[in-house]
Amino acid sequence: MKTRKQLEKSEGVELGRLARRTARRSFLRGAAACLAGLPLASGLPRETVYAGSKRSGGGLSAKTPGEVVGSRLVLANCHLIDGVSDEPRPDTGVIIEDGRIADLVTSRGVSVEKRARLIDCRGAWLLPGLWDAHVHLQFPDITPPKDLTARTIKYGANAIEGLREAGITGIRTAGVDNWIDVAWKRAFASKQYLGPRIFAGGYFITTTAGHGHGYIHTRECDGTEDFSRAVREQIQNGVDHIKLGLSGGIMGPPWDGNRQNALLPEEMDAVFRLCNQRDYKVMCHATNPLAVKEAIKRGAWSIEHGYILDDECIRLMLEKRTIFVPTLCVSHLSPSQVSNEWEKRFMEMWTRQIPPEFFARADAASKEHKKWFQAALKAGVRMAVGSDMGPLKDGALLEMGLWVSDGATPMQAIKAATSGAAEVCGTADELGTIEKGKIADLIVVRNNPLEDINNLRKLQMVFKDGDLVVEKPADRS
Ligand SMILES: [Zn+2]
Repeated sequence: MKTRKQLEKSEGVELGRLARRTARRSFLRGAAACLAGLPLASGLPRETVYAGSKRSGGGLSAKTPGEVVGSRLVLANCHLIDGVSDEPRPDTGVIIEDGRIADLVTSRGVSVEKRARLIDCRGAWLLPGLWDAHVHLQFPDITPPKDLTARTIKYGANAIEGLREAGITGIRTAGVDNWIDVAWKRAFASKQYLGPRIFAGGYFITTTAGHGHGYIHTRECDGTEDFSRAVREQIQNGVDHIKLGLSGGIMGPPWDGNRQNALLPEEMDAVFRLCNQRDYKVMCHATNPLAVKEAIKRGAWSIEHGYILDDECIRLMLEKRTIFVPTLCVSHLSPSQVSNEWEKRFMEMWTRQIPPEFFARADAASKEHKKWFQAALKAGVRMAVGSDMGPLKDGALLEMGLWVSDGATPMQAIKAATSGAAEVCGTADELGTIEKGKIADLIVVRNNPLEDINNLRKLQMVFKDGDLVVEKPADRS
């Protein structure tokens, strides 16, 4: 049985470094295989990240003091933002065992821990992985490729890039055609490919002449039977929640405005009764007070957009603990509103896709949307970050920037993109915070995101299930 030191000597390489290099290679192989549409039987980082895992050989599973034990990893010398507390915790170490947070200690505590692989974060900022709780995987393509295979690959590449470039470790989809989101959810969960956790909604259920007409991700229904069938089809195809469009929106034809409500009461009843009966959460596109109240009255789990609200909507959301996902990006990102380099860069790409009249509608909605976002925030409504924009690597970061420019603190935005998003996905007991027992989906960023929310862009490392899956060069700006 060899100790870690003996192994390192015989292998001629420092194990941590070897593990990181192998992890990187595996990850790149995964992404490349994905883009080629090829199956990938193995090559996931779990066994390579931990130098001490049984599978890495060398009998390192022995529990002799001073040796590497099991899959234990220690992240030392971090500034911790745990997704729960209002204040960060300096000089903290996080111990990860078998993919979960085993303990949180002071950095002094870490220095005596010799049985684990240790990563010195050198004062960088450790947070739960980020989430985007309102995603359409085809965006920024309004008209994605016609070919289903090409779309499938494109959507998967978008999700993978989100994890790799922005540390997005979880998403909730709000309308994706052909249940491609369910397919990728399964592919990522099986660890054949490395990507974010997906909470899938399949098709966006709407009406003829309802919001989303003409988009590839909508299923237009009429009458209670058709709505019931649509909900059942979603369930049969493996979705986690049902996305329902109750009212108009910003990006649609003139008969699809925010104040227009699309469903008949009996159609809403059919959807909510079925979903309540089958225990499926309803993710409600609702953009005016009547739509919001009709949805909450019937048991809505979340309200998406809420461009126009009233005091009663806020009161009802508080009373029923409905979660609000404001998607500020939709009303706030237009050529006349951009305010920083990232928004400008996004807009250059987005203006090629969006007709000017949609931007005019965004501009018209923006001020009131901001007002109700602020009111909900102040009242303490449960909220989550969801961008409704793509690509995935940009959406949540843009949305969090807008939260802060509209008056949220960076800590509020971070919580909404971590614990808040895990809550809206119904998985807050497992994910979204850095607490003992939680699954270790984590990111490390170099500079303090509480000083400037855009410091989240200085991504250094991403961990999923406790595995180091992405490591950026230290000098990356
Ligand atoms: Zn949407």
